[in-house]
Amino acid sequence: MALPDVLERIAAAARKAGRDPREIRLVAVTKGHTPEEIERAVLRFGDFPLGESRVQEALPKIEALPAARFHFIGPLQRNKARFMERFELVHSLDRVRVAEAIARRAARPVAVLVEVNVGREPQKHGVLPEDLPGVLDRLAELPLVVRGLMTVAPRGADPIRLRGVFAELSRLADRYNLPERSMGMSEDFELAVAEGATLVRIGRAIFDEL
Ligand SMILES: *Cc1c(COP(=O)(O)O)cnc(C)c1O
Repeated sequence: MALPDVLERIAAAARKAGRDPREIRLVAVTKGHTPEEIERAVLRFGDFPLGESRVQEALPKIEALPAARFHFIGPLQRNKARFMERFELVHSLDRVRVAEAIARRAARPVAVLVEVNVGREPQKHGVLPEDLPGVLDRLAELPLVVRGLMTVAPRGADPIRLRGVFAELSRLADRYNLPERSMGMSEDFELAVAEGATLVRIGRAIFDEL
């Protein structure tokens, strides 16, 4: 599939759910791909934000594609906090200590989403839903802009369970008055759109034809 086909599927899923397709923005996940591949598969279709999950891999691409906007979507360590101001949005904040390190290092307030482990998978990153109020209270004291929530759904789960996870993230975002919900990947983005995603992070579906 090429990027325009993915956009078409996002729009179709939105209309089916009675949503305005413009409420959903595509983050093209570019990990594992070179700047040339990114130009060819993503940027020639428009100025889509590019999602990267490793700082080491992202930094040379940020240099190579100076006009592009990057989002950080991967596991976040405190020793990488100083690089977060290079990203337009950090999707994967899940610890107050890391947030403090980002806030201390950045020259401007960095925009972040809090990653929530909605599926309660023990090995997974993210704040547990019951810990979210406490985390949000502490983040509110820092010079960061908390825009919303993010989740990675359990891999291989059935559609009913996936919808439940996405619906729960939307409920949490509503409860705390947060506008952005980053959820849905190549395998499950249509379900995420049906349950209120505002950002979908899609890699393989865009790059599978290169
Ligand atoms: C890789 C990745 C994606 C994209 O996954 P695809 O299956 O390639 O669409 C989305 N979100 C996160 C956090 C990722 O690491």
